[in-house]
Order: sequence, then structure tokens, then C-alpha cells
Amino acid sequence: MSNCIFCKIIDGDIPSQKVYEDDDVFAFKDLNAQAPLHVLIIPKKHISSINALTADDAETVGKLYLAAKKIATDTGYADDGYRVVMNCGEAAGQTVFHIHLHLLAGRSLSWPPG
Ligand code: AMP
Ligand code: ZN
Repeated sequence: MSNCIFCKIIDGDIPSQKVYEDDDVFAFKDLNAQAPLHVLIIPKKHISSINALTADDAETVGKLYLAAKKIATDTGYADDGYRVVMNCGEAAGQTVFHIHLHLLAGRSLSWPPG
């Protein structure tokens, strides 16, 4: 998608602090970190929101979670615990319409979220 900021980050047209990449997944630090570790994990395929997912995307979405596990493990947060969350739609706070898992770690995280 030509006007999607996360597609531009994948293409390198917008700079980011990359933490992980494979054939299907790209992960980078959130510009406005809400925890000591705050990484966004996105598919290289443009998918606007959970509402746009199809059965064909199931493996891709699974790979987002495997990347979250790897990043949490590699950064040393896996044992203490971490949160992965994907907002869907404006009422849930989605502001960028290219699906992304937030990976948050490094502080105590309250529940329920606001
Ligand atoms: P959401 O509100 O769930 O759609 O999350 C969007 C996230 O993208 C926010 O946490 C923003 O801080 C983050 N964000 C927006 N633009 C950038 C960017 N260029 N680089 C890194 N993170 C960004
Ligand atoms: Zn996109």
C-alpha cells in the first residue's frame, strides 16, 4: 500500500529501529514506547486490521506471535513475562491501519488495560 507508513518502514522509505526480520515479518521499536521494551511486529503483507483477515492469513498471524516469543526471549524478558496486544479499530485505539502486534515488557503491566 503506497500510503501506509508501516509499508514504507518495511521498504526502508521511513527509517525505523529494526529488531527482527524474516521473509514474512518485520519488527521495530515503537517511536512512543510505553514500556522499556515496546516493539511493533508486523506482517510484510499489508493487512489493514483484524477485520480484514482471511483464512489465508492464519499462518502469517501465527508468525507474528512466534516473532514476539523470539524477541522476548532474545531480549531476556520471556521468563518475567510480557504482553502482546493488537488493537482493532478506532474504539480500541488502532491508529495505524496495517496490523501490528505490540510487544511490551520490562515493567509491571496492569489489567484490564484502559
Ligand atoms: P496503534 O495505536 O495500536 O495503531 O499503534 C500504532 C503505534 O505505532 C503507536 O504505538 C505509535 O507510537 C507507533 N508508530 C507510529 N508511527 C511510527 C513510526 N514511524 N515508527 C515507530 N512507531 C510508530
Ligand atoms: Zn501497510
